[in-house]
Amino acid sequence: MTLLRSGSATDTGLVRSVNQDLAVETANLFAVADGMGGHAGGEVASRLAVDALAVAFGRQPTGAGLSEAVTEANAVVWQRSNEDPELRGMGTTLTAVALVNEDGHDVLALVNVGDSRSYRFHDGALTQITTDHSLAEEMVRTGELSSAEAAVHPHRHILTRALGVSSEVAVDLWRIQPVRGDRFLLCSDGLTNELTEEQIGEVLSSVGDPDDAAGLLVQAARTHGGSDNITAVVVDVVLGEDGDESVPTVAAVSADFARPEPLIDDVDELPADPYPVSVAEEAPPSRRERRRAKRRERRMARGRRLITYRTLLFVLLVAAVVAGALFAVRWYDTNSYYVRVNNNELIVYQGRIGGFLWYHPTVVDRTGVTTADVPGIYLPALDAGVEETSVADARNYVSNLVSDKLTQQQNPSSIVAPTTVPATAAPTTAVPATATTKGA
Ligand code: MN
Repeated sequence: MTLLRSGSATDTGLVRSVNQDLAVETANLFAVADGMGGHAGGEVASRLAVDALAVAFGRQPTGAGLSEAVTEANAVVWQRSNEDPELRGMGTTLTAVALVNEDGHDVLALVNVGDSRSYRFHDGALTQITTDHSLAEEMVRTGELSSAEAAVHPHRHILTRALGVSSEVAVDLWRIQPVRGDRFLLCSDGLTNELTEEQIGEVLSSVGDPDDAAGLLVQAARTHGGSDNITAVVVDVVLGEDGDESVPTVAAVSADFARPEPLIDDVDELPADPYPVSVAEEAPPSRRERRRAKRRERRMARGRRLITYRTLLFVLLVAAVVAGALFAVRWYDTNSYYVRVNNNELIVYQGRIGGFLWYHPTVVDRTGVTTADVPGIYLPALDAGVEETSVADARNYVSNLVSDKLTQQQNPSSIVAPTTVPATAAPTTAVPATATTKGA
């Protein structure tokens, strides 16, 4: 018999104007979704995803059912994004944990797509279960970056997998034995970007009530910067099965489940889009062994018709095209900046206004310049966002606005004479012109 108790909190943060994060708490299903996309896209994506997840999981409340529910949620968001041009390009992350019963045993099934995270707090130690599907994390895996470098890397927000941005999605799935006293934390990147694992662990070890713990975590992330929406769901195992031998203990699986094994032999089933395909499944060893054997057989059967010169050439071509497209998209996004007003402050962002594909714009400079420091005529443009090609240009633009305002204050008549208007149009300064008109 397993009993769970949960609490959650969410906050818009100090920089964003809307909250596109969503927390879900039901009796046996808990989730965090972090939506993205311009206009209302992000909010719609996270809402559609969690609703579809809950409905589909309700139909099939098992580990496999949870994984399939994520696949269904992906289809729902993807379809909606194709139907509505306003919502095109929207997507969301999704991480969820569910209490399921498999073969008469209580099991916690945990899934993830994107860079929201699930942690397990066990015996005073915090362990990240999920793997971020971000460019930075992939660079860590290939050894190009250390995890410390990845935590502050400008590309840490770029996702390599998200829900609703493609017709297919690979879902990471873990099965964990519930242990009394364990806590699970599901959170959006707005939390993990502001707080260290030590700080998170400290809150989880000192605050007993899950609602209070989630609230304090979100509050702490807000105080540490709050540059993104922040969401946390804390799930406590208050009563758990002990000494269940047929389900592997968490300690035994942990080394394995922390790095889901990618299934890369499905080359001929690759979707025609730039998202890497991998499937990760963990199950009791006996079942896993059987699955591995089946996979080997499939791979061999496929191998016979796959390894031909033409197929190989085709695969290489597809890979080259995909790599080229990814590079172009990255270049397009990272080589653009804009200045925009947020909470009366002028902020320099990297990226495209309103976001581009799966890229969130990121804050590069909070200038400290407020709307009161710049001439009013520029405010409509600043509200919409003013594009610049580099950070230096953006900063220049802002400081030009500030000196404009200063000039105006010293010489008020120039307010009515912006550069594009000829001097004769300003009657107060154009005394000779007025005299001529009078004379004629
Ligand atoms: Mn976020």
